[in-house]
Amino acid sequence: MHAFPFQTFDDIAKHSLEVHIYCPNCHRQAGPIDLGDDRLRGRAFTGTRFVCSVDRAYGTAHRPRVCGCLGYIVIKPPARDFIPPSRSIPWCSIECPRCVPHWEVSQAAKHLPPWNRIWTAPSVRVACPACRSALTTVWHGEDGIPFTPGYRRSNDQSDDGAVGP
Ligand SMILES: [Zn+2]
Ligand SMILES: [Zn+2]
Repeated sequence: MHAFPFQTFDDIAKHSLEVHIYCPNCHRQAGPIDLGDDRLRGRAFTGTRFVCSVDRAYGTAHRPRVCGCLGYIVIKPPARDFIPPSRSIPWCSIECPRCVPHWEVSQAAKHLPPWNRIWTAPSVRVACPACRSALTTVWHGEDGIPFTPGYRRSNDQSDDGAVGP
């Protein structure tokens, strides 16, 4: 198994990636967080707890309470590297099936660092930097995916005028 390319918040900042926090209770995402914050210096992104501080009202009979739910850590590319859903540029989502708090990478582009160094062979497996589980990877944006330019392109090449989907 391949090693995950980084471990700490400082590494994430060095790769110009962003960290957002998603609350599964409020269905809200906040971020990017300030990776230069002293409290994050030298810390592994896995295992760092972000607690949701949104005030929630549980009906009018109760006083508002702070949500307090453990946030998911979502690592994302900066806006300039974001790949829109319609493009046939391969990227992969990565998540650990075991870690608590949950963490994920929303777009690990095949051609961009630091990911281009680990996708060196088809079906390469990557280990979680914290619990060493094999990470779950789901690929998107490859040729042949319906409703993407790659799908239309490969359809055009084989288009001999025959009818059919
Ligand atoms: Zn919340
Ligand atoms: Zn893990």
